[in-house]
Amino acid sequence: NVSRVTVLGLGAMGTALAEAFLAGGHATTVWNRTPGKDEALVAKGALRAETVAEAIAASPLVVVCLLDDASVREVLEPVADALSGRAVVNLTNGTPAQARAMAVWAAEQGVDYVDGGIMAIPPGIGTPHAFLLYSGSSVTFEAHREVLELLGAAHFLGDDAGLAALYDLALLSGMYGLFAGVWQAVALVRSENVRATEFMAFLKPWLSAMFEGNLDRLATQVDSGDYMTGVVSNLAMQAAAFPNFITVAEEQGVRPDLMLPIKDLLDRAVAEGHGAGDATVAIELLKN
Ligand code: NDP
Repeated sequence: NVSRVTVLGLGAMGTALAEAFLAGGHATTVWNRTPGKDEALVAKGALRAETVAEAIAASPLVVVCLLDDASVREVLEPVADALSGRAVVNLTNGTPAQARAMAVWAAEQGVDYVDGGIMAIPPGIGTPHAFLLYSGSSVTFEAHREVLELLGAAHFLGDDAGLAALYDLALLSGMYGLFAGVWQAVALVRSENVRATEFMAFLKPWLSAMFEGNLDRLATQVDSGDYMTGVVSNLAMQAAAFPNFITVAEEQGVRPDLMLPIKDLLDRAVAEGHGAGDATVAIELLKN
């Protein structure tokens, strides 16, 4: 079942997307602002478009993967007429508000719009490790689901176009928070010239054990609003130990900056009377 699909944007990610469509046997048309990035794709059978309008005219499905929301606007707004009646799946990173505004603009142009988030790095595209989040027009998503599944597992989150971006940025927030902790941990042991490769033998099982035991429990606590039942590591105890993380960093010549906001949050939780409960209650205190 061969479809025609167009990819706008041939950065690292757009190139990986186009490669997956080609590998799936689809007629893939590609365009990039700066010429010359399509050579390898064309050698694999991609069709080169000289202009955005030409690229859009080639396929009923247009997949967009540019740097940011401003670049998507810059590329799509001048070709609104050509887009009318086609499906746009925008996989560019953005905020929920940007996705919703793009969906409104698309509807005004008669464009079927789906916004998406890519939970993979380019080499992961088309492998079992990749998954993508989609939201917006469910009819459009279902019509193109088979082609989109070539990129990775496809999860449709609902007709609010902003949902994919919300989940995407939330998942990435989790990732950066985790990496920030890893960076701090490695910086601490590096201050004594411990080899990072050796330290990983401890860090990896430690983080895995903490995830395995805690994430489901955390989710149950948040959904029930009960942060008091079965507490084994109360928040006041954790807040009491936390200054040690700041002190050890300072003593070892490592910046404590990444840890300071966590200390503030735990101190505030204790001050607000949550000391006997589980530290998960911090999520409630993040509400602004
Ligand atoms: P790159 O920096 O490799 O590529 C950026 C692309 O955007 C290029 O094709 C560039 O064109 C184009 N571009 C930038 N500004 C404009 C503009 N004003 N007009 C037209 N084209 C423009 O980024 P990636 O391919 O890695 O990322 C693309 C998107 O995918 C981003 O939103 C990113 O957040 C998202 N993403 C990336 C992941 C990754 O690991 N790489 C993971 C998940 C999501 P030109 O060649 O002309 O400069």
